[in-house]
Parts: sequence; structure tokens; C-alpha cells
Amino acid sequence: MSEVRVRFAPSPTGYLHIGGARTAIFNYLYARHHNGKFILRIEDTDIERSSKEYTRAILRSMQWLGLDWDEGPYFQSQRFDIYNKYLKKLLENKTGYRCWCSPEELSDFKNSLREKKLKFKKKYIEETNLHWLSERENIYPVVIVETPLEGTITYKDIVKGNITFSAKDLNDFIIWRSNDTPIYNFVVVVDDSDMGITHVIRGDDHISNTPKQIIIYNALKLELPYFAHIPMILGPDKKRLSKRHGATSVEAYKQQGYLPEALFNYLVRLGWSYGDQEIFSKDELVGKFDLDNVGKSAAIFNPEKLLWLNAEYIKSSHHARLFDEIIDRIPEEERSKLRSDSNFFKLIGLVKIRSRTLRELYENLKFYFEPYPNEYDSKGVRKFFSKKTLYEALRALYKKLDVMIHFNEENLENAFNEIATEYNVKLRDLAQSVRLAITGKTVSPGIFEIIELLGKLRTMRKLQYAIQWIEKHITFE
Ligand code: GLU
Repeated sequence: MSEVRVRFAPSPTGYLHIGGARTAIFNYLYARHHNGKFILRIEDTDIERSSKEYTRAILRSMQWLGLDWDEGPYFQSQRFDIYNKYLKKLLENKTGYRCWCSPEELSDFKNSLREKKLKFKKKYIEETNLHWLSERENIYPVVIVETPLEGTITYKDIVKGNITFSAKDLNDFIIWRSNDTPIYNFVVVVDDSDMGITHVIRGDDHISNTPKQIIIYNALKLELPYFAHIPMILGPDKKRLSKRHGATSVEAYKQQGYLPEALFNYLVRLGWSYGDQEIFSKDELVGKFDLDNVGKSAAIFNPEKLLWLNAEYIKSSHHARLFDEIIDRIPEEERSKLRSDSNFFKLIGLVKIRSRTLRELYENLKFYFEPYPNEYDSKGVRKFFSKKTLYEALRALYKKLDVMIHFNEENLENAFNEIATEYNVKLRDLAQSVRLAITGKTVSPGIFEIIELLGKLRTMRKLQYAIQWIEKHITFE
């Protein structure tokens, strides 16, 4: 077989959403697995709905996911010469016909045919004596492809098997607008052929376009590619995934703190499987991915599973990598100091096992460089800051730590124990009030570990602030 050439062909009419990203990933992996080429084509013939900003955003998301393409991006808006050439052929061989009709006239006509349970076909324009097939003044023509009146169009889909369409179920369809711009079903054929695409891998929402495209391939005497239509992604309620189900753009997942390889891994498994293995490195996927294991039925998007996978990826990421991933969230003036602070890196190691997103990771780390918490967890305040004995124990602990010379785990543990006994409070409760004072939260890695990493100066500052905060905000009974 000749070299595999596949393409991802987004329309820049919105951000890259996860359905599109999954299509791109399948194409990318198919190309890499077969040592072929992955081509990027921007389908921007709908000038009104396309924008450069969306194009940039799509490229950005693809780069972030590590979907490097081998050719392109090609822009359809720059290829009108080629389309015109093929348009001429289509008109010459009479598969395409010009229709001098306004959009309103056309839509009224289609409605009237629908009422009679008829499809829109050239034959009915002629029979109805509409005179749309020759020039009319003040009307710019559209170009329409004529579909056969009978017979079938059959092709073998790599994922779905044999698919047959009845020609009598097809409407003739516009391929060139009256504003002199071409339309998807036509340009996709010209481009796939011109770019030597061997396999068209795309969402199964395009199945109904396929017979139309096959008609054009045949009319232009072009070789058909293989088609592989992959099942849609549905929300947990089995409806097509949409904004109602929460974030759908790749960019939103990035902002929420997902690692690109976690999203990549998750999306591959939506519709493709390899036994019950869940976690795959990219190299492993390149080795294993093929279209044989793509399922026929829709895949259900499961945000909890994605979160779980992300947590797994964070857990197994190097500390330096995680630092780079959260650097934009860290205040600028802290960045270079932290970069060379080995204690901060140790803290990343302690915190990453309890962080499911980079956002959580950052939230769990920020106490290290913030002078004191912006706010204290309100439940924690009720349980650990609002009891007089605990407050007194905290003050006594402060004094004890103030004169401690070696801030190591052993000395700290002893000091905590002594104060807990002296003030008759549970060690656990004392530790919780210190944890709240230092991190603002009631969960964190071991309290002695984090105090040791923080060092005396910063610990004392936070404790002092917390004591003052309690004095200002709490009235004991
Ligand atoms: N531009 C089309 C889309 O975004 C591409 C369809 C295709 O892959 O043929 O849906």
C-alpha cells in the first residue's frame, strides 16, 4: 500500500472542542503508527463564520496536545483557483448545474417538494417550469450538484462496515454560493484528492455527507479514499456532548489544570480500546493504535475518569515538570527564588499525590510563598480557631517554637506533645489548628514535614498572624 496520508480539517468557527481534538488524535496516531503523514487543513471557506482568532486558538490547542502536523496548515480560503478549475470540470460534465434562484426561492421550493414527500432534484425544477436554469437578471447563480434519481451508492466504512444510500433519498446540493465561494462537500473532495489523502477519519456526523462526496469523486473521476467514521462523544445523559455538560474546549481544560498528556490519553480511550488498559504513554499509543479497535457505538464522556487520569499523570510527573506547568500561576516576583529552592521542590513532591489538577496543586502549594493565607477554611475556623483552650495552646506553642533553635521534625513533635499535654488538648486538634494557621486549609501533608520545609521565619510569621486574626475575629464563650 502507498504511504498513509491523513488530515485533520477543522473549521475555524469556534475553539477546538474535545470531539474535534479526539478526531485529530485518531488521525495523528494513525499517521504515526503507519509512518505516514498527518496534514492540517483549515476549512475556512465560510468567510462569515470563520475567524483568524479561532484558527490561532485551534493551532495553539493542537500544539499543546502535542499533535504536531507534517504538512500545512493549508487554508482553503487560499485555494480558490484549484476549486474553480474543478468546478469547471463539474459543469462541463453536467454533474453540476447553475441555478439562478435566490436563497428564499430555493428554500420555498424545497419546502413545497417536502410537503409532497419529494426530494429536491433538478428534474423538478424543469418540470415546474421555473426557468431557473438559464440566466436571470439581478440574480447571481449558485452551483448545484445533480444526484441520480435512482440506484444506490455503497461504500465500505473501516469502522462501520458496508453503508448503502439510496439515490432517491438524496437532495441535489449546493456546492458554490451566489457570493462566489465554494462549499464544504465540494472543496473537501477536491482537497482530499489533491492532497493525496488515503484515509478520511472523521466524526460519524459526516456519514450523511459521504454519498454526496462520492458522487463528486466519481463525477471528477478521482480515486476514492478509505473512509473511517468514528462514533460521536455523548454526555453522561447520552445526549450529544455540548456546553450543557460543562467545559468542552481544549483550552478550558488547560485552564482548569489538566495535563495535555492526560487529556490526550483520556480522549484516545473514548472510542478506542486496548483490552482494559487505561494508561498509555504516547509512544505506546503510536505502537498500538489502529482503526480495528475503534468501537461502532457512541462513547460517553466521563469527567470523573478524566480527573482520575489527570491525578495519575500529576502523581507520576517530575517535580521540575510540574513547576514549569504551574509557573504562570505563581506571582512573578516569586518565580526565580522558588526555582532554586530545593525545599519548594520537596513540597511539590509531598503535595502532588493529593492534587488532581494543576490548579489544585498550585492551591496546595501557595502557602509556601504567601506570607499568610488569604482566608481560612470556615469549617476549620469553627472547629479549631474558636476554642479557647486551643487558642491558648497555640499561643504557648508559638512561644515555645520562638526559642527553639533546631526546627526539625523530632524537636517539633516533642514541642507539640508537651503543649498538648500541658493544655489538655488532643495532639491532633493542636496540629489541625497549626495546619489551618499555616495553610488556611484542614488538609495538607504532615504538619511537621511542612514546618520543617517552611523554616522558622515563615512559620512564626504565619502563626503570629493567625493568633492576631483569632484575637480580632473570635469571641470565646
Ligand atoms: N471542516 C469539517 C468539520 O470541521 C471537516 C469534515 C471532514 O473531516 O471532512 O467538521
